[in-house]
Amino acid sequence: MNNLILFWHRRDLRHADNVGLAAARERSRQVVGVFCLDPGILQRDDVAPVRVTYMMGCLEALQEQYAKAGSQLLILQANPVRGVVELAIALNPKAVFFNKDVEPYSRERDRAVASALREQGIEVTAYWDQILHEPKDVITGAGNPYTVYGPFWRNWSSRQKSEPALPLQDAIGLSETEQEKAKQAGAIALPTAKDLGFIWTNPLVLEPGEAPAQKKLESFCDRAISDYSEQRDLPANQGTSQLSAALKFGAIGIRTVWAATLEVDQYAQSDEARHSIQVWRQELAWREFYQHALYAFPKLAKGPYRTPFKEFPWKNNQEQFQAWCDGRTGYPIVDAAMRQMNEAGWMHNRCRMIVASFLTKDLIINWQLGEKYFMQRLVDGDLSANNGGWQWSASSGMDPKPLRIFNPASQAKKFDPDAEYIRHWLPELKSVDTADLISGNLNPSDRDRANYPAPIVDHNQQQRRFKQLYQQQKVGG
Ligand code: FAD
Repeated sequence: MNNLILFWHRRDLRHADNVGLAAARERSRQVVGVFCLDPGILQRDDVAPVRVTYMMGCLEALQEQYAKAGSQLLILQANPVRGVVELAIALNPKAVFFNKDVEPYSRERDRAVASALREQGIEVTAYWDQILHEPKDVITGAGNPYTVYGPFWRNWSSRQKSEPALPLQDAIGLSETEQEKAKQAGAIALPTAKDLGFIWTNPLVLEPGEAPAQKKLESFCDRAISDYSEQRDLPANQGTSQLSAALKFGAIGIRTVWAATLEVDQYAQSDEARHSIQVWRQELAWREFYQHALYAFPKLAKGPYRTPFKEFPWKNNQEQFQAWCDGRTGYPIVDAAMRQMNEAGWMHNRCRMIVASFLTKDLIINWQLGEKYFMQRLVDGDLSANNGGWQWSASSGMDPKPLRIFNPASQAKKFDPDAEYIRHWLPELKSVDTADLISGNLNPSDRDRANYPAPIVDHNQQQRRFKQLYQQQKVGG
């Protein structure tokens, strides 16, 4: 037994403001990181190459941070129940620390790893890090998890938030002999995403790693946060933070993000600016609401929250689904959004709501197909946020006013009034009149010239059909 603490990273790929890592460093100077490339995750059929590319970039940056702090980040490629435990047996650390997660798979994995380590007599300690408040602290008066966002927000926002945790510094890594032992126990050089079979050649929305995430947060706070409430719904503008991938993989700590909102609030010049900051905080709270929800109701990962929705008679037309995936529905705002996701690996929130409503209410296709396609394409693909967004859009979730149907033309008119976003992502329609791009009523010669499809369904007809099915299922109550 020695003073070594192994810190097992998962979705907390940073050295600063990392609760578990800071606690490890407080306990001991010899803190060594480990990350396990888990085939149980990487071999799923919903993994996006863009997401793996971002993650591997974060790991590369984190290895540099460990080296600067005087230690190492070890890489394994194995089922963690075997990989992490074998490494621990080889190095005989005083303890293994990690941060908790809310996803059912991760919770099960963590239980298995922790119990295998404890069987070896190794201490295991886990912390809450990726959320500002742990699920047991934000509950209703009756002691239950919240299922409605409004009261969750009131409770969550009224609570004292922790300060950012200290960064890892002045640490000690493994000796050469220990490094050799680690290699024998499976430690490998960091592979690239390509080595793992994931190829993404387009630019990333956000460069991976802590430094770019911190820079993005600062520039958002300097520039856009004060106009967020006005700008956030306009997909042609860069009015949102684009921090979602960094938050998903923990390239930035949530306490750091919160502290930045407090700082910018102090210097806010107007009530509008203060209001905008609050609206952005409400988005951070949505992220946390969905994480708490998944933690309390793991069944969300597998299907609808509202039981009657299990029997909903989805149409699931394969050709129409493919047209939606490819951005070839004939509805320009929908197609522009799908092309943005396919090409950039990221989609604006307003557009996520528009395309999700279109898939479920206009095409009457099961939201779970859309949920999976998003996971296959998004750099920020995250089970709790994605599932929450899809269930909200499909009317199968916790939303107390569930039946929402977006009209693509009204959405485009309101949020992309000059069709700037549409033209950017559908360059073949660049010269079409703005009014036609918004309404989706392109004249046949424009369609032919651009080789752009006619609408694959009629919105008015389909929304009536959906409402009928919805009432028949008696899912409205
Ligand atoms: P900002 O507007 O700057 O918001 C700041 C942060 O708050 C985001 O980075 C994100 O972490 C969080 N956030 C914002 N809105 C939401 C929300 N509605 N729900 C949960 N968290 C939110 N977000 C993901 O991170 N991963 C997903 O896989 C995902 N899938 C979605 C699927 C659908 C159908 C819908 C409607 C929304 C989904 N969202 C998802 C939520 C939201 O669209 C993105 O978080 C947001 O677009 C990311 O851009 P941003 O970082 O610029 O956000």
